[in-house]
Formats: sequence, structure tokens, C-alpha cells
Amino acid sequence: MIKCPCCLSDLEVTHQERYETLLEHVEGREPSLKKGYQCPNSFCKAYEMNGVWIEDGDFWIKEPPAGMNYTEAEEEVEKNSFTGTTYAVNSFAHGYHRYTEDKKNREFSLNFWWFIFTWTPLYTRIDGTNEWKRNGKWKRTIMRRATEGRYIHFMTFWDIFFFELEVYKTNYSRAIAGDENALEILQSNLRNENIWGLKEDRFWWKIARFTVCWIIFPGKSKLIKNIR
Ligand SMILES: [Zn+2]
Repeated sequence: MIKCPCCLSDLEVTHQERYETLLEHVEGREPSLKKGYQCPNSFCKAYEMNGVWIEDGDFWIKEPPAGMNYTEAEEEVEKNSFTGTTYAVNSFAHGYHRYTEDKKNREFSLNFWWFIFTWTPLYTRIDGTNEWKRNGKWKRTIMRRATEGRYIHFMTFWDIFFFELEVYKTNYSRAIAGDENALEILQSNLRNENIWGLKEDRFWWKIARFTVCWIIFPGKSKLIKNIR
């Protein structure tokens, strides 16, 4: 049950409305009709400000009180929230926000020469909840300075190798299950081409791909090559 972040009352569906999510906005889609949840507690700030949540926990001001604008009304709710945010408690949006904040706080970087190494903790979503917990693993990324003030993503040979290995394994099981798209990806990999039919000419990528296709999985690769 999603709850009001200001008074922790269970939120209640009071109406339906075409509230636009960020995804709908980005994709330029017509917003779908959504249930509007509101706080039933008439002593609560969110009630006073006419706040509305949708199922995933995102927040809107339906109509600000007289003499206030939308931003002011939203800030009032935020100020009075137990969590410091306007997201509904127990919702996807709130859990996701907490998880990304936690990740940001724990991430750290070191500079070596013209490289920046960054370590980011990894998380797993806890089944059946909107909570994420750290799974003990870390992801390491390397950025290399390209020109003054500009950095590009840098992959070591092992990064490339494990990336190719993962692509192969994922697409192999899909291709065997009859996925045409996965089969096409694998077959172009075997020809050392990308999906648009262009030759891969980056040296370490060629080596990594060849190793995965023909040294680690030669039997599987022959099978894939001979389909169709
Ligand atoms: Zn409330």
C-alpha cells in the first residue's frame, strides 16, 4: 500500500486523470489514464496542498491553494515530508530514488595519470518489494582523458572480453529458443561484423570476439553458423 510521505496515511484513489510520466513525455506518447491517489487526512499538509500521487509514487499538485503556485505548494509538501521527498512511501519511485542516492553516495573515484577509475556498488531488487539492497559486487569503469576536459569510456581487454562473452551467452540461449534477432546478432559476430553489416576493425574487439566465438565455443559457433 502506498502511503503519504507527510503523515503516513494509506493513500486513497479519488479520481482518474491523464498524468504524464517522464517516460511518456520522453517518448512523446499520449499520457494514459491513471488512478489519482490522495491523502485522506484533512490535517495533513499534502491534503491541504491538494497533492496527488500515481501508482508508481510520482507526485503532482492537482490545484495549488489560492495564493500559491505549483512550485510553492510542492515545496511545502517536501518540507513536511518524513523522507524529504514527495514520493509516496512504499512506492517504486521512492525505492528507486533511495537506491540511486545510496549508489551515488557510495561511489568513489581515483585519478591515475590521465585515467579516472570509478567504483560503483551494485544492487539487487528485493523480490516483491520496491527496495534494493547491495549485493556485495562493485562495477569498475575507467574513463580516459581524450582532449582537455573531455573524457571517453575506456575498456581494458578483459572488459571487452567479458562483454563479448556475455553477449554471446545471452544471444546463444535466445537463438536456440528460436529468437531470430539473437541468431542474427550471433551470425554477424561470427563473420566479425556488427548488426549493420559493417566489419569490426577495432583490434582488441576482434581478438575478444574471435576468442569467444572460436576458442571458447567452437561447437556452438559451428551450429549457429549452419542454421539457415
Ligand atoms: Zn498525509
